[in-house]
Amino acid sequence: MSVKSVPLFIDGKFSHSLSEETREVADPSNQEILARVPFAKKEEVNQAVQSASSAFLTWKEVPVPERARLFFEYQKNLKKEQDEIAKILSQENGKTFEDAKGDVWRGIEVVEQACHAPALMMGETVENVSRSIDTCSYLQPLGVCVGITPFNFPAMIPLWMFPMAIVCGNTFVLKPSEQDPLTPHKLAEIFDKTGFPKGVLNIIHGGREQVDYLIKHPDVKAVSFVGSAPVAQHVYRTGTQHLKRVQAFAGAKNHLIVMPDADKEQVLQSLAGASCGAAGQRCMAISVAVFVGEAQNWIISLKEALKRLKLGSWKDKGAHYGPLISRAAKKRVLSLIEKGKQEGAEILLDGSDYRSEKWPKGNFVGPTLFDKVSSEMSIYKEEIFGPVLLCVRVQDLTEALELINKNPYGNGTSIFTRSGSAARRFRHEVEVGQVGINIPIPVPLPFFSFTGWKHSFFGDQHAYGKQAIRFFTETKTVISRWFQEDPKSRKPNMTISMK
Ligand code: NAD
Repeated sequence: MSVKSVPLFIDGKFSHSLSEETREVADPSNQEILARVPFAKKEEVNQAVQSASSAFLTWKEVPVPERARLFFEYQKNLKKEQDEIAKILSQENGKTFEDAKGDVWRGIEVVEQACHAPALMMGETVENVSRSIDTCSYLQPLGVCVGITPFNFPAMIPLWMFPMAIVCGNTFVLKPSEQDPLTPHKLAEIFDKTGFPKGVLNIIHGGREQVDYLIKHPDVKAVSFVGSAPVAQHVYRTGTQHLKRVQAFAGAKNHLIVMPDADKEQVLQSLAGASCGAAGQRCMAISVAVFVGEAQNWIISLKEALKRLKLGSWKDKGAHYGPLISRAAKKRVLSLIEKGKQEGAEILLDGSDYRSEKWPKGNFVGPTLFDKVSSEMSIYKEEIFGPVLLCVRVQDLTEALELINKNPYGNGTSIFTRSGSAARRFRHEVEVGQVGINIPIPVPLPFFSFTGWKHSFFGDQHAYGKQAIRFFTETKTVISRWFQEDPKSRKPNMTISMK
């Protein structure tokens, strides 16, 4: 049986790439080949940018409420098909079906945010900045914007980007992850059916070469990237060197502090879900649990909580999490677990040998728990991106804060405590962008911004959600003098008014 090739979406048409370079898209639970994804040729990338450039000329003139109205319709259509999108998503990504539905829903929420564009795009005005002179500012779209997305949220992250960019009047070229391109393809099909003009959204597939070509392209004005830290740095450096506006959301190492006065059961449940949910492949997953003082006695119960987690494919209803995205990802996680053992961390639960009877070919790794981890170990320094939780023991909150603040990443963090003063101190002193208090994964809804700090974000505007409007627009300030009846007031002004 021949495997279907994922089409490109250029100038309102789904067409097959002429490229001979392709990669298989496999179901991570059984290696069944679902499709082949082409690595687009340069000419095809050019066609996508060209189509976006010419669509921009007319799309930017479409009134903002009309643009928003199309997004109301898109949101409705996405909702109608959310289960179908989630099915495609879980099959190619390996997430449980419930988790995949959450991925799609989080994306739909961003589309809802885009529907508010007329209010969000309001500028500012001040009357009488000087006599008979008023100033106002308008937000105007930039032109062709590019999005480059990772494999772990194939619905939500593309939807973080193109709806906000497009509703502002820009046009868009998306280069989704080559590991699960069928979900963004489905989003584009629904977008097309909704009735957006051709060229407003384009999708090209590929990897490094296609990304590099896009971020240097003279007609591209802004680049929005989400992915691993090394690639984020590369995209940020190259894009800004080519004078693009760039925002790059990167990797993470998220800590959760357990204070001895916390609710033990709540801590254990939260840690199990936040470390192993989605097989640990979330940029906001908790990968380090920092146990303060007496709370260290709970580590042994944490092992029992992790042991109870069930693995399965997206078809298995009771599964807590599924396989890793690829064999290569599994190999990498296993080698880090091995390194952890060699470097002297104490392994309390080892998921390396996990075998699924039902899905013997799946890229599964069982829940893994390390104790007595120190900040010099590779498992602490590197983002593992697997179902692996590290326990670090400290004496007090001061020591816990020092550990977190020294870590180069700053995406998310959390504290579990009943003490108001500990929570307040943590919130105030921690050098991390997204902070949970008795919440393990503090992801804000899209009317806030996604605010990673330090090496978890490169750029100057956290342009998801609220601030996306600022990232995807240019401010134009207009100063107007309104002539008065009295001709004497029209005399030339040779000095700056100091009054
Ligand atoms: P990745 O960096 O491997 O890939 C991301 C994108 O970049 C893909 O589209 C890929 O094709 C492209 N790419 C890969 N290598 C490239 C290269 N050398 N040059 C140019 N482009 C390249 O990331 P991934 O494995 O798909 O996703 C997981 C990573 O994403 C994790 O590190 C995770 O923490 C991070 N992530 C961060 C956030 C956030 O908001 N901070 C959200 C989700 C995921």
